[in-house]
Amino acid sequence: MQHQEKVKTLAFKKVVQPFTKTRALFDKATGNPVETNLDIYGGVVSAVKSRDYRGLPDGELKTRSEALIAEARSVPDVGEHGAANAPFPPHDRLIGAFALVREASRRVLRLDPFDAQLIAGLAMASGKIAELPTGEGKTLAAVFPAYFYALSGMGVHVLTFNDYLARRDAAWMGPIYEFLGLTVGCAREGAQAEDKRRAYACDVTYATAREAGFDLLRDGIALLAGDLVHRPFHMALVDEADSILIDEARVPMVIAGVGERATWDAGRLAELIKVSTWGRDHETDAEHRNVFLTDEGAARLEAALGCGSLYDAKNQRLLEAVHCALHAEALLTRDVDYIVRDSQIEIVDEFTGRVVDNRHWPDGLQAAVEAKEGLARKSEGRILGSITLQHFFRQYPYLCGMTATARPAARELKEFYGLSTVIVPPNRPSVRVDEPDRIYTHREAKRTAIVAEIARVHSGGRPVLVGTASVRESEKLAADMGAAGVPCEVLNAKNDDLEAKIIAGAGNPGGVTISTNMAGRGTDIKLGGEDERERDRVVALGGLYVIGTNRHESLRIDHQLRGRSGRQGDPGSTRFFISLEDDIFGRYGLTGRLFKRHRLSRRSEAVENGLVSRDIGHAQRVIEGQNFDIRRSLWKYSELVEMQRRIIQDWRRGVLAPATGIETRPGSVAEKAPALFTAAAARFGKREAGELERRLTLVQIDDAWSDHLAWVQDTRESIHLLSLGGKTPLGEFQRSATAEFLKIRPRVEEAVIAAFETRLGKDDSLDFDADEYKGPSSTWTYLVNEDQFGWGIEMLSGKNIGLAAGAALFAGPLYVFALLINKLSKKKARGAD
Ligand code: ADP
Ligand code: MG
Repeated sequence: MQHQEKVKTLAFKKVVQPFTKTRALFDKATGNPVETNLDIYGGVVSAVKSRDYRGLPDGELKTRSEALIAEARSVPDVGEHGAANAPFPPHDRLIGAFALVREASRRVLRLDPFDAQLIAGLAMASGKIAELPTGEGKTLAAVFPAYFYALSGMGVHVLTFNDYLARRDAAWMGPIYEFLGLTVGCAREGAQAEDKRRAYACDVTYATAREAGFDLLRDGIALLAGDLVHRPFHMALVDEADSILIDEARVPMVIAGVGERATWDAGRLAELIKVSTWGRDHETDAEHRNVFLTDEGAARLEAALGCGSLYDAKNQRLLEAVHCALHAEALLTRDVDYIVRDSQIEIVDEFTGRVVDNRHWPDGLQAAVEAKEGLARKSEGRILGSITLQHFFRQYPYLCGMTATARPAARELKEFYGLSTVIVPPNRPSVRVDEPDRIYTHREAKRTAIVAEIARVHSGGRPVLVGTASVRESEKLAADMGAAGVPCEVLNAKNDDLEAKIIAGAGNPGGVTISTNMAGRGTDIKLGGEDERERDRVVALGGLYVIGTNRHESLRIDHQLRGRSGRQGDPGSTRFFISLEDDIFGRYGLTGRLFKRHRLSRRSEAVENGLVSRDIGHAQRVIEGQNFDIRRSLWKYSELVEMQRRIIQDWRRGVLAPATGIETRPGSVAEKAPALFTAAAARFGKREAGELERRLTLVQIDDAWSDHLAWVQDTRESIHLLSLGGKTPLGEFQRSATAEFLKIRPRVEEAVIAAFETRLGKDDSLDFDADEYKGPSSTWTYLVNEDQFGWGIEMLSGKNIGLAAGAALFAGPLYVFALLINKLSKKKARGAD
C-alpha cells in the first residue's frame, strides 16, 4: 500500500501538483470538472520530444527501458529517497518512459504518435479522463500511461469496451511493450483459470471490465490461495470511459452457484398470461414501462390457479412470478429487447446494440421470458457474490480513462470517481458536418424519407452508415432497402461474428451498412477500405455519410454514432431523422406536448421548425440529468452493501492466505476453543487441523454472505413500506442492514466450532475433497439487467425518490411492492371520487 502511495506521488505530485492548486481554485469557482488549458501538458510534451531517441540502436532502447524498470521496482519514488539515490528523479522517469514508448511505436508499429496522443497519455498518467475525438488513436495513447505504470511490475489493466477490442488491442499494441521488455496478456472472456492467471500476471493486461470483475467475484469464493487469478489491483485504464464508468456502472455483476429454490410451473403461468388482454386483465402505464394487473385480471388468474387472493402474504412469491410473466409478455419484445439464439435468451444491450454475453434479467423475469419463449429453464441458483461495476473500479488505487465523449459525462465522472476530464483537441481539426435533424410528425413519413435518402446518396456512390435503435428496426430497414433495390449489409446482435468483415467494407464506395448501436463505439471505419485509390474516390464524394434513425436517451450515444464519420480530418457528414412518434418521446410523454406546443398536424414532409429541434435537444438533456440523479441515489443504496462486501472479503483473504499461523488469527477455533483445536491437532496433526479450520471457515463465510445477500434482497419490500410511514427508506435500510451484517461473524465462528466438534466425533481420515469442505459444485456469472422496470420513470413522475432508487437496486420483489402501491393508490383515488 505504502508502495502504491509512492507511485501515486510520482505521477501526481511531480508532474501536475504545482498546477492542481490553481485548478482546484478554478473548479471551486466554476464547479467545472473539465480542463481545457493544456499548457502544463504542453511543457511535458516538449520535454518528451526533446529526447529524440531516433539515433539509438534497438538494443540501447531496450537497455534504457530495463533501467527504468529496475529503478521503478527498487525505488518506486525517488523523490522521497532523495535524488542522490537515483539516476532519474520521478518527473524524469515519466518523460523518459514517454520518450521510449514514442520511439518504440515508430519502430514497431510505424506510427509516429501525435502530440494529441502524448497529451492524452499524460492526462491519463496523472489520473484523469482524456477526451480525444474518435479516430484519433486512443489505443496508442493508452500505451504511454500503461507502460509508465507497468514499470513498477504491479500490473496495469487496460479495460476495453468488448472482448473483440481486448484481443485486437493486446495484439496490436503488444509489440511495443514487448519491445521495451514488458509482458502483455489478454484475459479473454471464458478462458481457463490458468490462462487468466497468466494474463493477469503480465505487466499489462487487456480485458473487458466485466471479465476482470467476474474474475474478482470468482476469486471471492476461491478455497485455495493457488486458485486466485488476480493480483492485488494497481492501475486501471478504462477505454470508452463514459460508457463503462457511467452507463454500465450500476449494473451488478453476479456470481451464483447451484442451490435449490422454490419454483412453480412457469410454463403454465406463461400460458395463462398469453391469453390475458390489455385493458381487461392488465394495463400499462403511459410510458409503457410498467404493467399492472387489473382487478378482473387478478380474479381470472386466481380462479385459474386456485390460489386464493394473489395479494395474500402467502402468495407473495407467486404474485412476483405473475408480474414477471406479465412483464415478459406485455413489455419485452423479441428481436428488440432480446433475441433467441441456440435456444437461449440473449439480451440486447440498449446502449451498445449488441448481445452482452451472460446478461440476465433479475430474478424471476429471466425465467418468465424463458417460459414465454417455451425454452428449457436454465437453473437459477443462490447468489454467492455481487459487485457493481462502479464499485469494482473503486478497487483500483489508480484509475484513469479515455473516450471521445467525456464532456457530457464530466460532472458524473468527477462526482463518482473524482476524475477530472481533460479535453484534447484532435490532431487535425474535424471537418465533419453535422446536418440539422430532419423532423417528421409520424413514423411512416420518417421511414419513407430515410429510404429515399439512402437510395439517393447510394446512387452517387458515397458510403452510408445507418444507426438504428434495435435489431428489429435494422432488419426492417434492410428489407425496405432491398425492396427499393439498394443492396446493404446489416450489422446487429444477431450476426456480430461478421462484425470485423462488415466494418472493413463499410467505407467502400457505394457501401450501405445498416447497424444497431453496435457500430457506435470503438469501430474504425476506413474510407475506401484498404485501397488508397478507392479512398481518394470516397473522399471526393464527401466521405462517410452517417444517418441516425433515432435520437438516443443519451446524447453521448448520438455523438458516438456521428463520430464514425470524419475521422482524423476526413470529410464526412451526419444527419439524424426523427419522428415525434419515436419511442424516446412516447416514453417520456413528450409526443403530445410537442404537437400541441408547436401546433403541428400530421404531414408527410419534414417539419421545418428550429424550435422543435431545440425542444428535443432540451428534452434529451433533461432525461440525461434525471438519469444522473437516479444513479446518484442508487449509489447511496449500494454503498453500504459494498462496504460490507469489502469487510467480508478482507476477512476471507486473511483466512485463505494467512499472513501468520492460523492459531493466532483472531476468532479462530484455536483462539475461541483452544481445547478443541488441541484435540484436533493431536488427532490429525497440527497442519491438518489448521487446514480443516481454514476450509470450514471459508465455507461458512461464503454461506453466511450468500444468506446476507438474500436477506438484503428480501428486505426491500418492508423497508420501502416504511417510506409510506414517513421514515426515510435509505436510513432504515442502512440501519437494519448493519444490524444484520453484525450477526455474520459470531454466526460463522459458532458454526465453525460446531462443525469442528462434529468432525472430531467422526473417524480419523480427513478428506478435504468431501462436499462439506467445498463450495457449490458449479458456479456461473452474469450481469443483472435491471433497467427493465422503469424505476427511473417512477421517479420522474414525482414519486418518492427513495422508492424509485431502491427499486432499481433490488428490482424483482420491490417491483411487486410498487405494484401494490399502485393498486393502493388507485383504490384510494377511486374511493375519493
Ligand atoms: P480511437 O480509439 O481514438 O477511435 P483508434 O485507436 O481505433 O482510434 O485508431 C484509429 C486509427 O488511427 C487507426 O487506424 C490507427 O492505425 C490510426 N493511428 C493511430 N495513431 C496514429 C498515428 N500516430 N499516426 C497515424 N495513424 C495513427
Ligand atoms: Mg477506440
